Amino acid sequence: MVATHCPYCAFQCGTELAVRGREVRVRGDETFPVNRGALCIKGWTAADTLDHRERLTTPLIRDAQNRLVPATWEQALARIATVVARVQGEHGRSAVGVFGGGSLTNEKAYLLGKFARVALGTSNVDYNGRYCMASAAAASIRAFGIDRGLPFPVADIARSDAVLLCGANVAETMPPIMQWFEEQRANHGALIVLDPRRTPTATHATLHLPLVPGTDAAVANGLLHLLLKMGRVDHEYIRERTTGFDEVRAAVAAYWPERVERISGVREQDLVRAARILGRAKRPMILTARGSEQQSQGVNNVLTFINLALALGAVGRPNAGWGCLTGQGNGQGGREHGQKADQLPGYRRIDDPAARAHMAAVWGVNEQSIPGPGRSAYEMLARLGEEVRALFVFGSNLVVSSPNADEIARRLAAIDFLVVADFFLSETAALADVVLPSAQWAEETGTMTNLEGRVLLRRAALAPLGEARSDSDIMCAIAHALGRPRGFTFEGPAEIFDELRRATAGGVADYAGITYERIERERGVFWPCPSEEHPGTPRLFAERFPTPDGRARFHAVHHQASAEEPDAEYPLRLTTGRVLAQYQSGTQTRRVGRLRELAPESFVEIHPTTAQRLGLVERDLAKIETRRGSATARVRVVNTIRADTVFMPFHFAGEGSANKLTNPALDPISRMPEFKVCAVRVSREGTR
Ligand code: SF4
Repeated sequence: MVATHCPYCAFQCGTELAVRGREVRVRGDETFPVNRGALCIKGWTAADTLDHRERLTTPLIRDAQNRLVPATWEQALARIATVVARVQGEHGRSAVGVFGGGSLTNEKAYLLGKFARVALGTSNVDYNGRYCMASAAAASIRAFGIDRGLPFPVADIARSDAVLLCGANVAETMPPIMQWFEEQRANHGALIVLDPRRTPTATHATLHLPLVPGTDAAVANGLLHLLLKMGRVDHEYIRERTTGFDEVRAAVAAYWPERVERISGVREQDLVRAARILGRAKRPMILTARGSEQQSQGVNNVLTFINLALALGAVGRPNAGWGCLTGQGNGQGGREHGQKADQLPGYRRIDDPAARAHMAAVWGVNEQSIPGPGRSAYEMLARLGEEVRALFVFGSNLVVSSPNADEIARRLAAIDFLVVADFFLSETAALADVVLPSAQWAEETGTMTNLEGRVLLRRAALAPLGEARSDSDIMCAIAHALGRPRGFTFEGPAEIFDELRRATAGGVADYAGITYERIERERGVFWPCPSEEHPGTPRLFAERFPTPDGRARFHAVHHQASAEEPDAEYPLRLTTGRVLAQYQSGTQTRRVGRLRELAPESFVEIHPTTAQRLGLVERDLAKIETRRGSATARVRVVNTIRADTVFMPFHFAGEGSANKLTNPALDPISRMPEFKVCAVRVSREGTR
């Protein structure tokens, strides 16, 4: 039995692998304290991707007839070295971009930032977490001086007496977490779910608030308005542990319930009931996720929920507080170790002279040689073919996961040179000039950091299939082929992790005291953990916040309309999300037979009155159009969605791709695109 973790979401369920030859069977690890043996269907079927007949087992190179044909590693690396030298010689070092992912292990995420800045010398490096966690991260840093998704263990949920869950459908996206909500209910706790849809999670709730997509800040301000009126805020906590409350009090004065109902569609009596539940709670907890965060106002939305948690005096108290439910498998660790355009390892800022000096010493390079901040993910992709002429992609399927996806696919197809490392020929890999076969989750060792900030060890159970290699080995091999080998020779992932520990030492996300041995012994170690004697930090903020004065900051924020509101031409709102049996861009899960049977194709959920008005019936094909493109999807007529809103999952490629429609309007602070709301029109395309 090999004890390891699921390859998919940030819950990082503990698993045990029974391995015979290349046959792998997965079961839940009952001793792992986060999932306690439970897995969802994605975890149960994870081994189906390992020896899948579509696995890439050799490099592929595009030939003179424009076909991707098998090649040796030497040929692939030689082609990369030649083209990169030409592009950088003609257009400068930052003309080569690097795009990473939130599923890469900490070791790979760390090495990816080093590969970009040291081997390539480019400022243009970012990753798909910009599509996922960036708004919560930016808000958390503003309010608390640190970004760790959950500043407490997930088990705290069970002991909270009132949870407000905003924009999360965890019953489908990470079902094993429901055991903690069920325990919370058994302990007589209340659950309030804020979501435009009555999802399976909302069905489980004490109270569902079906808001208009994009109106989260109005609802949060409305709740704080009521709590102030009810005398339910914790003035002593506010006085002793925070700053900026007076401005917030003045701002929320304008959010009386009738007005909030007009903006958000949440009924006045439901808002009052929610405020009473939160106000009476001794251990209130507020959790946010992508529904509230993937908006052009995502940072502000999160700040309003943090205001609420601070006003209740909840943050830093056991079994209470604010937290963000991270999405991607290593969404937490992936945002700490330097694959972001503005960041160096340990959550250091790339424009901080002390951080640059520290990293220059770790990397053994001149401080001036480390490039400055580059473009954020969508901004880099939107300049492909102009400022960025060649791109390396590791662990990301941009053609399916980027907003305004048709435009991104056009740009990717037109650049000088595209290199993609992946397990399968994803829609993005299919456009590449060179495709490199990557090892999969059970074929390599490395650390992941789950949604609690607990650093975990994923263990290799079998050798990579065919000629597939770990992404770390691939980056090192490219650095050597480019003639820039210094700092890119490692015995294995443990040696990369040791360098990561030195790199993060003294930073906000300090891993210096974490070792593979400790992780195994302690079932994970929570960062910050500055020394091997330090116990790790399961709970943050008990006594002070890591801000200069030790206090948390309130931020006065007003509701603002979404970047694209419905009008006569595009009268409905589209919101997007995930379903139980698929994961992210579907590169893996769309290839698993058992998952494909459960979720075979794209669909659009429409309320019965809207469907009737549009002449649509169940299983019709609908055409969904925005100013950016159109998609075709199977109609599901459901009474669990608002009549002014339609929903599509974003896992599917081709005609059913939801991201052909989504709006790339960016949050001004986090640069997060507005995936969760845009204006659409829907019409009948036919039946099939
Ligand atoms: Fe894997 Fe997430 Fe499902 Fe757990 S909840 S089995 S980590 S996909």
